[in-house]
Amino acid sequence: MTAEILAVGTELLLGQIANTNAQYLSVRLAELGINVYFHTVVGDNAARLGETLKRALNRSDIVITTGGLGPTQDDLTKETISKTMNRELVLHEDILENIRNFFAKRHRTMAEINKKQAYLPENSIVIPNPNGTAPGCIIEEGDKTVIMLPGPPKEMQPMFEETVFDYLKRKTGVILVSKMLKIIGIGESELVTRLMDLIESQDNPTIAPYAAQGEVTVRVTARCSSHEEAEALLAPVVDEIRSRLGIMVYSENGQSLEEVVYNLLKENGLVIATAESCTGGLLAGRITNIPGSSEVFERGYVTYANKAKNEDLCVSWETLSKYGAVSRETALEMLNGLRKKTGASAGVAITGIAGPGGGTPEKPVGLVFIAAYVNDKVLCRRFEFMGNRERVRNDACLHALDTVRRLILGVEQQ
Ligand code: ATP
Ligand code: MG
Repeated sequence: MTAEILAVGTELLLGQIANTNAQYLSVRLAELGINVYFHTVVGDNAARLGETLKRALNRSDIVITTGGLGPTQDDLTKETISKTMNRELVLHEDILENIRNFFAKRHRTMAEINKKQAYLPENSIVIPNPNGTAPGCIIEEGDKTVIMLPGPPKEMQPMFEETVFDYLKRKTGVILVSKMLKIIGIGESELVTRLMDLIESQDNPTIAPYAAQGEVTVRVTARCSSHEEAEALLAPVVDEIRSRLGIMVYSENGQSLEEVVYNLLKENGLVIATAESCTGGLLAGRITNIPGSSEVFERGYVTYANKAKNEDLCVSWETLSKYGAVSRETALEMLNGLRKKTGASAGVAITGIAGPGGGTPEKPVGLVFIAAYVNDKVLCRRFEFMGNRERVRNDACLHALDTVRRLILGVEQQ
């Protein structure tokens, strides 16, 4: 199946705006296995638009237009396409009502010119527009399809996602199945380097890495005609990525790290307690965000001051003065105190320098020690996180969860 994207707008031809709609649509169509052979741009001119549409319909199965669905004189896409395809424009009362409501909600009255937007070509499929006034529409003519979408990306994209994507999926008989591999302990650029050959040779499945808030995700998407086929296509690629990244892959179905750890604790009949310094309770907050966490979470200490570390967790003053509050020794003593106080089967302690102040050449901002135990296994890790205070605290929580995960899975080395 082939498609052509026909962007309408003189602004595009004058270079005042870039044709990002074509770029966006091309990416999504590729995922559907639809070949995009042409991007065309035409100004707000009925004759040239009509001619261009005819040419597009001659050489492509699907033509997707963007722009020119607005209420003004120069918005002539719908009128021109209807005329070219010999379709009457018919008034849709329900759409008119929606447009009136759209304005009423914003305490404005609908201008008479907006009525034009409630007319659609006869026998077309309506594409609702939740973020604007102009709906789009789909015209089917023999084995050809014309899909009209508005110009503003904020309107066009949700319409494509909510209506057009599924329509095209049905049309092509293609199904898409994705695995979301979530990864910790590696930056996006290193991840891309390690997977470079896979990414470069990708076709089906596609491999898309991206990073957000200290976590790296790789989405592997297969397109085919059945779930079994998709699973068969995905399995070797997912296995290959797993074999390259090992323990760093913590989930295949998009689960968050705290969900993964929650499940591991539950499956293993473990209960955890936390001792936090620089994260100030964020870790306990993350764990208790999960419904049902009372089954696996016992309590959390926030021991911010040295006095609190000493009184609540029995960290000795000697250790605090000799090695400092941010040290392997203090982290381990926090952990020991936590175990002694709670008797919980699992525990994790965090101490570090979140910044922006407080760093020294030996102990820079971002230095964090994380100690954890699960039954009789103990692991203490040293990190130097980059970025601002929020980032350091977030990374500290993620790696604390990861340290517990590694202990439960029996991977105790760094
Ligand atoms: P409106 O109701 O806003 O007039 P419309 O469907 O008539 O919508 P146009 O008038 O063609 O769309 O374009 C409106 C705005 O949408 C443009 O000013 C531009 O910001 C954006 N836009 C239009 N076409 C594109 C495109 N191909 N790529 C990116 N942005 C676009
Ligand atoms: Mg317009």
